[in-house]
Amino acid sequence: MKIDMQLNVLTLLAHPDDAEILCAGTLARLAEKGWQIHIATATPGDCGTMTASRWEISAIRVAEAKRAAAVIGATYHCLDERDGLVVYDKPTVQKAVDLFRRVSPSLVFTHAQDDYMMDHVEVSKLARAGSFLFGAPNISAFPLKAGSAVPHLYYCDPIEGIDSLGRAVAPTTLVDVTSVHGKKLEMLACHASQREWLRAHHGMDEYLEAVRRHDSLRGKMRGCDFAEGFVQHRGHAYPSGDLLGELFG
Ligand SMILES: [Zn+2]
Repeated sequence: MKIDMQLNVLTLLAHPDDAEILCAGTLARLAEKGWQIHIATATPGDCGTMTASRWEISAIRVAEAKRAAAVIGATYHCLDERDGLVVYDKPTVQKAVDLFRRVSPSLVFTHAQDDYMMDHVEVSKLARAGSFLFGAPNISAFPLKAGSAVPHLYYCDPIEGIDSLGRAVAPTTLVDVTSVHGKKLEMLACHASQREWLRAHHGMDEYLEAVRRHDSLRGKMRGCDFAEGFVQHRGHAYPSGDLLGELFG
């Protein structure tokens, strides 16, 4: 880790609750180390309901996301796109770049490049574009903060740890989140509307259990009770050192 690195981490994921499901344990550990945590979603979760209007559920879910972020002192942001309609186009890339410009992260989490839902896939591309571009002076009207550089970029596990063809994804990095797993579940439980919605839509009454099960599987790979898995982006211009590995051994 560079001595002068800014300790800002940004998660850009599709929906409210994705960060809590996929990487909140690692975020909690980063917060303990003094990092500023920014949790951003592409949408306010406007389709996550069987009964409420688009606007009612968006207001509820933004409030839930803010409550979850507050558990670890994080700041919540929303790009205000729409569920199921997230696309990689000029206006949305610009929104993503502007978000990166305001946060100036040195560490970024986004969705796996191939995941079960297209919003996740598109957001992964948006985060990749934002992380690569935001340091270019002419790309955004927001001021370029000193020290801005291409950040370490990590892809979270796809949902259930499998890609869209059902193939298991092998993490390059596993973070032990055992000590903060209670806090992770506390953050997830802030999304009360989703526990209800999953029960109605998927017939699934195990919002917290699914996360506990997945993190326990990753924990077995790591040799601890609970872990979160990531794949590091190592393309041209990105830092290749495994920052998470350095921070959490
Ligand atoms: Zn999602």
